[in-house]
Amino acid sequence: MRVLLIAPPGAGKGTQGALIAAHFALPRIATGDLLRDHVARRTELGRAVQQHLDSGDLVPDEIVVDMVLEAIVAAKAAGGGYVLDGIPRNMDQARATYLISRGLGMIPNVALHLQADDSEVTRRLLARAALERRSDDTEEVIRRRLVVYHEVTHPIVAWYAERGIVVSVDAMRPAEQVGREILDALETLRPVVDQVPGEARRPVDLTGLGVAFGAAPTDSGTSG
Ligand code: ADP
Repeated sequence: MRVLLIAPPGAGKGTQGALIAAHFALPRIATGDLLRDHVARRTELGRAVQQHLDSGDLVPDEIVVDMVLEAIVAAKAAGGGYVLDGIPRNMDQARATYLISRGLGMIPNVALHLQADDSEVTRRLLARAALERRSDDTEEVIRRRLVVYHEVTHPIVAWYAERGIVVSVDAMRPAEQVGREILDALETLRPVVDQVPGEARRPVDLTGLGVAFGAAPTDSGTSG
């Protein structure tokens, strides 16, 4: 199975991506982690991207696209599945990722969209800032990351929806609950995901399910 995650910062991409990777024994390709690792090791690439990370802006597309090419080649050799966390983050990256993955016979078959509103993700990121030291978890930089998300990242959800591979999840709830719902959905999709022809695929929206089953509405309609 080949899953990519689209979510605002703080919605749980890292947590849920790691859960999916562990559950299905897939390699997790997390561009943010790869970039921070370069910064920590003070590589040439790390020095080139540090300012972008610190300001909450995207690093240049070529850098992450090269990274993802290398990682998808490795994922192919390792068995053919992956969890992509952090790319694509704009339309050009979505197209580049598509071309790379198509060339390798590794097109993603699920685009998992985690929905959470700005106030909730800001609260989570500031809580994390008290525990970890990520240079971009300050109020000002979080605001910038959210602007970038809404302007250039969120629009790619519609592009994947047209391809019928979007699964939307309400990520406002506790991580365990969100994780359970994601794993259930992916377990259900897994046997069919490679069999369904492109034109027959339909997006799956799980965000209304909790409400349908009597859970309190979470008011996550404004963003995600
Ligand atoms: P978050 O989603 O919480 O912002 P990430 O670890 O995914 O966390 O990303 C952190 C930062 O790394 C981003 O703000 C950006 O500067 C950089 N980054 C990660 N992935 C990409 C990408 N695909 N394109 C450009 N920049 C990226």
